[in-house]
Amino acid sequence: MTSERSRAQYLRRANVRFVLTLLPAVLCVILTSLGLWPWAAVVFCVTLVVIVVGTLVPRCSLFGPLVKRQLSGSKAPLLTIDDGPHPEHTPAILDILDRHGLKAIFCLIGDRAEQYPHLVHEIIRRGHEIANHTQTHPAASFWTLTPARMWDEIARCQETLTRIAPEHPPRWFRPPAGHHNAFCVLTARAIGLETLMWTARGFDGTLTNTDSIIRRIRRKLTPDGIVLIHEGTPVCVEVTEKVAQMLTGYAAERIPS
Ligand SMILES: [Zn+2]
Repeated sequence: MTSERSRAQYLRRANVRFVLTLLPAVLCVILTSLGLWPWAAVVFCVTLVVIVVGTLVPRCSLFGPLVKRQLSGSKAPLLTIDDGPHPEHTPAILDILDRHGLKAIFCLIGDRAEQYPHLVHEIIRRGHEIANHTQTHPAASFWTLTPARMWDEIARCQETLTRIAPEHPPRWFRPPAGHHNAFCVLTARAIGLETLMWTARGFDGTLTNTDSIIRRIRRKLTPDGIVLIHEGTPVCVEVTEKVAQMLTGYAAERIPS
């Protein structure tokens, strides 16, 4: 799936898309050279808005289909946990999930999985699913990656996780910070992955007030929703405990005993 041949086929398609993304710039130059600079300004502004919104707004599907909710009929929100594995946090989080009888999808970073392969095995052994969260997690620059770099980030992580757990190849891809440029979804699909987003997050990667984090998540909670939290933050264990309590309480309210 991630062979050289697949990569070459993907790059041909992605490079066509790359050329198409340059066409508005060419049009701007032509319009300006003809003295039609107001029209050039309009084309420039519209293109800029499309690129910024399509890339940086996590739930925007302009550049390809995203999984933004669970299938209709879902009775409880799905918990997803990004940025692991972590030598201290992952075992603590697994214990919390066990205590509350919750299953989650762990979106793992390839480099960290290589450092702690036993934690990848432990996540799976306890009944959770693993997902692809890139090999190096270049959160600040992910939206700028070219088709070739994008392929390398996602394919290398897929190879890493599949090498560690061959029986459980990831089927989901979660882009770092939710940023997905014109090549991201195309790349994930070429590797056999669906791009998984979320419906509820508390910005626990930056905030440290756990009550505020939980309030933000609770406001967006729906039965078919997808909750995002992170490992590797100073408050991640406390956040996981509170989110687990919230999710089990939410499910108990909706499923009569
Ligand atoms: Zn991340």
